[in-house]
This record gives sequence, structure tokens and C-alpha cells, in this order.
Amino acid sequence: MENNVLKQVFATDVFHDEVMQERLPKKVYASFKEIVENGGELDVAIANVIAHAMKEWAVERGATHYTHWFQPMTGITAEKHDSFLNASSSTKAILEFSGKELIKGEPDASSFPSGGLRATFEARGYTAWDITSPAFLREDAAGVTLCIPTAFCSYTGEALDKKTPLLRSMAAISKHATHTAQLFGHSEVTKVNCSVGPEQEYFLVNREKYLQREDLIFSGRTLFGNKPPKGQELDDHYFGSIREKIASYMKELNIELWKLGILAKTQHNEVAPAQHEMAPIYSTANIATDHNQLVMETMKKVARRHGLECLLHEKPFAGVNGSGKHDNWSIVTDTGINMLDPGKEPHNNLLFLYVLSAVIKAVNDYAPLLRLSASNVGNDHRLGANEAPPAIISVFLGEQLEDIVEQIIDKGEATSSIHGGRMDTGVATLPNFRKDATDRNRTSPFAFTGNKFEFRMVASSMSISDANTVLNSIVADTLEKMNAELEGKTGEEFEKAAKALIQKTLKENKNVIFNGNGYSDEWVKEAEKRGLPNVKTMVDATKYFTDKDVVAMFARQAVYTDVELKAREEINYETYAKVLHIEALTMIDMAAKLYIPSVIKYCTALAESINSVKATGLKATTAVQEELLANTSELLAKAQIALDELKVKTAKAETLEEGEPLAIFYKDDIREAMAALRAPIDELEMIVDKKFWPVPTYGDLLFEV
Ligand code: ADP
Ligand code: MG
Repeated sequence: MENNVLKQVFATDVFHDEVMQERLPKKVYASFKEIVENGGELDVAIANVIAHAMKEWAVERGATHYTHWFQPMTGITAEKHDSFLNASSSTKAILEFSGKELIKGEPDASSFPSGGLRATFEARGYTAWDITSPAFLREDAAGVTLCIPTAFCSYTGEALDKKTPLLRSMAAISKHATHTAQLFGHSEVTKVNCSVGPEQEYFLVNREKYLQREDLIFSGRTLFGNKPPKGQELDDHYFGSIREKIASYMKELNIELWKLGILAKTQHNEVAPAQHEMAPIYSTANIATDHNQLVMETMKKVARRHGLECLLHEKPFAGVNGSGKHDNWSIVTDTGINMLDPGKEPHNNLLFLYVLSAVIKAVNDYAPLLRLSASNVGNDHRLGANEAPPAIISVFLGEQLEDIVEQIIDKGEATSSIHGGRMDTGVATLPNFRKDATDRNRTSPFAFTGNKFEFRMVASSMSISDANTVLNSIVADTLEKMNAELEGKTGEEFEKAAKALIQKTLKENKNVIFNGNGYSDEWVKEAEKRGLPNVKTMVDATKYFTDKDVVAMFARQAVYTDVELKAREEINYETYAKVLHIEALTMIDMAAKLYIPSVIKYCTALAESINSVKATGLKATTAVQEELLANTSELLAKAQIALDELKVKTAKAETLEEGEPLAIFYKDDIREAMAALRAPIDELEMIVDKKFWPVPTYGDLLFEV
């Protein structure tokens, strides 16, 4: 018996390739594999055999239900469960699962956002099995359920989800990057895969304390509260006892993820107190996306078993570092060439330089679209707000590549590569090792890191589908255009043309390359001089869904139709307004029912103290109480005025027309009113006796897990 837990549990809940090979007749398995690898339609006979094997496998493991697991435009996953029970028997449980049920479903999902794509009278939506992402089992209070990853489309074929566009974009990048590889002499390449490794940041807080904060419950972030006296500068040993609890959480999280075949690899504490990170080993984009959704769900589920709550919000605590997701992205041929691997002599690696220049151009041409792909309401508190990547898109290349790019721009080609040299530790017993050619830059939103790009803007709670759909599409489109210029050329003529094209592309797009500190104010000014867009909020970014160049690009790559983009624009505005509405109402509730009454009690206590001291008839001074009472009452009055103002504005919002105007009203007016209410209450938190304070503070939440 295997006694290593990782070996024991890994992928035990996945109907993966090996299980299929084992359980399916050879011929069926072979036709299935053929379709997975080269596309095509699964016929019903084959689907029936697979469904049967899948059901047998699932039932052996206790499954009673199956579900088409899909990713509507809410960004979270949805499912509708059906049991395997066959209606034809009333005395004995006969379990059945047909090919038809495997391939296609019709969830009654008319309540998912569709941005007008589905009026209620034509509310049909279908789920379709994504055969490239394996089915898996999930065990929870509902029992064991067989989950089938599916895409979700409308009756007329429009994508109603986050998976369909991603799959389309993967086809687009495969097509054009394959063409690129072939042009550069790799004629055996037939397909290019996109690899993605998302690093996930999260916070863990004590669940009992969490439950005492309406703001955390309803909006996932604190809407009031002050930075604790000590923050991230705190020494780690302070966390000794916390670590025990977190370690046991991480252990269980890993096991749950491994069971699902998720390659959970790295875990560590992050900069902020109570903040952590998990990074899996990269996999194909659609699988990485499915897995990341499961990672987020599992993080939350396991936390509750440990008396913890997992916060995935981008900015749970103002003034404390927020959470993001680093989306590591590369493209790899079916013959194993990573097209973003510079190799030992990058200056001689023409294919790499060509793809590199295409990525740089794509990012420069579609910077606001990339910004949009990483936007959600929570991320507005990070991007452009003096923290983690700025809202300005730039590309970091590092010393080695920047030198090569300069050589190419100056001379038309590069003739040398800077190498990292050896690292000397100065300790005889430690090995000296080769340094990377480049140090890291943590402030860049889009950084080259060895053999991949790392898109660091993505929001922590968001599906990574949008970001990768955009990356794949814009790079595919750029490669298509560049490839066309080399088509038909061979030998020396080809090489000359390729070099000239790389030079021209780099020259025209060097303004987006920036190796300095992306958090600095100077960069904001410099970027403006360079003409780089600085799209500050999600609302400002949303209009790029229907920008005419964006619409044309997505149409060329067959990733989104204009109707699908319009729908997404609408949903974005709607979501923005809804989230802020909830936040505003929560603030109103907390201020009116918790903070203001508590502060009044404190004022009463102060007044009583003043009176009792005076009643003693002694000459004792009540100056301290009096000053406190004066300050407290003043802030209390301010809070009440701000509360009334927020109420008026929120009521006004309810009368405004939906869409962009409403979103703008929330962004400008409501946010301002929310800040005005928060300020006096946060000040009060600093002077009011803790015993009167109605909710756990940042200090309680961050340091007493
Ligand atoms: P770094 O130290 O540069 O952040 P890591 O090795 O920690 O790199 O990897 C970070 C993430 O990037 C992991 O999820 C890893 O699997 C992923 N990754 C590594 N190489 C690639 C690649 N070629 N394409 C996509 N993701 C990758
Ligand atoms: Mg990283």
C-alpha cells in the first residue's frame, strides 16, 4: 500500500486519460482521443459507451448525481444536479446515464446574466461537454456528484459563458502560431497549446469574527476600519500559533486539490498578515481555468471546516496589501517547442524574437483591452491605487532581452546576449550557481519571466478566462498579420524579411517596454508622455468591449461576435452598479444600526462619568472626558450627516437609467458618499473605548486567526 499521501490521493477523483484507457474499449478510446487532439464531433454511439463507463466509475465511488458544471458570465460556476435514477423502475434503483445526457444539457438558467442575449421568451440555453477537460467527482453535503465541465451557449449559439470564448481563442492562437512555427521551418508542427499557471492569493480570517461583520459577509471586504498599528512590517515569529492553524488548513487544501488532479505545487505566506498564496503547476488554458475555479471553491470550503473564512476579494482591508492572481502564460507547439523560450542564445533565436515582438505589439495595440480583461469592482482598489500593478500596461523584458531589443532596433539584428554569470555565495561549502540573466521586477503588470509572460493584473476573485481569452486573441491576430508578410518567402529572403519585420515591430512598439519601478509617480508621468493609456477604473475600461478595433479583431479571430461583446459590456455596467449598491446599503445598515448607536452609548458613558465625578463635589477635573465627549460628538454628527447623504444618493440611483450612466453615478457620486461616511467612523474607531466598538477591528481580524 502506498503510504505517501500525494501518491495515494492524486487524481483519484478524476475520470482522466488513464482511467478512460483502462475502462473503454480500445476502438472507442482511440476515436475519443482522435477528437480530443484534432477536433471533430463525438457520435452518439461513442458518447453512449463513454457515458456508461463514466457512470460505472462514478457510481463505484458513491456518486448518485451528475451535473453539467459550467461558468456563466457571473464569473463563478453553476450547476444543476440530476440523479442517475432511471424513471422506468419504481421498485429498484436502476442507474442510467446516456451519451446524450453526457454531451448536452439544458439547464433552466434564465436567471444568469445574459446581457440581453436571451430574452425570457427565448430562454433556452444549452450546456455542451468540453471533452478536453476531464470529468471529476465532488463530495460535499449533497453526496458525491459527477461533474462534467461544459460550455454554455444560447439557442442561437451565442456564448453565455466564460469557457466558450476561451476555447475559441485557443483555436485562434493554435492556428496562427502553428503557421508561424511552420514558416520558421518547423513543418511537423500541427497544433500550438497555450499553457497557463495562475498563482492565487487569498486571506484567511477567523470565521466567528467574520460572521460579526456584515460588510465581509455581503461584500467580501471591510467597508469600515483602520489599519492596525502594526501591519506587514511585522516579524513572522509573531505568527507562531497562527501558523499551526494555517498549516493544517493548507495540508487539507492540498489533499482536496490533489484528489481533483490539480497540480497544487507551491504555498507560502504573502506580504500582508493573514495573506497566503497557492500556485499550481501550469496546464492547458481551459483546464487551468477550470482548475482555478475549483481552487477558489475548495479554498472557501476547506476554510469553513477549520473555523476560518477564506477571503478572495481583491482588497479586503483598506491600507493593507490586496490580493491578485498572476497569470503565467506561454505557447507551446505539439512538438514541444515553447515559443517563448529564448534558449541559450536568444539573439540567434529568430522564432523566439519574432513571437516576442508579436506579443509586445499585441500588448501595446490592445493595452486597454488587457486592462479590461483584468477588471472587476474589487480590483479598482488595487490597480491605479498605489499598490500592486499600476493600471498602466507596460512590458518588462529584463536586462538581457532589453539589450537584444536595443541591438535589433539599432542595427537590424542582435549579435550577442548578456549572460547571468556565476553567483558566488562566498561560502566554500555552498555551491556557486549560474544566475539568471535578469533579476525580477515585481512592479510590472506584464513581465517576461524566463520562458513565459506573467500577467500580474488579474483580480484575485475573478475567473482567469477573460485574461487568457484576450491574450490568446490579440497575439493570434498579431501573428496572423505578421505571418502574412513572410508568406511565400524562403531561404535568405525569408530570413532577411523576418529580421526586418522584427526590427520594425520592435521599433514601433518600444514605447510599451518599461523596466523601471511601475509603482512610482514618475512612471505615471512618463507613461503619459509616451502616450500609454491609463485606464483608472472598471467603468472606464468597459467601453473597450465595443471599441471598433476590438470588435473587428475578435471577429477576425472568431472569438466574440459584436452581439456577444455588447452583452458583456452591458453585464459589466450592471455588475458594477449592483456591487456598489450592495456596498452602499451595507454601509448604511452598519452605520445606522451598529456604529452610531454604539458611539451614542459611549457618549452617554462619558457624560455619566462627567456628572458622577462632578457629583462627588471634589475638585477633580473632568477635562479629559469633556474633550473626548466633544470630539466624539462632533464626529458622530459628521457621521450622521454623511449617512443621510448616502441614503439620499442611493435612493437617487434607484431612479436612474441602467447601463453606463448608472455605473458612472456609482463610480463618482456613490463612491464619494461612501468615503465621506467611512472617514468619521474610522476616526471614531481610534478614540472610542474598544468595549463599545460593535465589530471586530482589522487588528482582531488580521492578527487573531
Ligand atoms: P516564478 O518564480 O517566475 O513566479 P514559478 O516557477 O514559481 O515562476 O512559476 C509560477 C507559475 O508559472 C507556476 O504556476 C508555474 O507552473 C507557471 N509556469 C512555469 N512555466 C510556465 C510556462 N512555460 N507557461 C505557463 N506557465 C508557466
Ligand atoms: Mg510568479
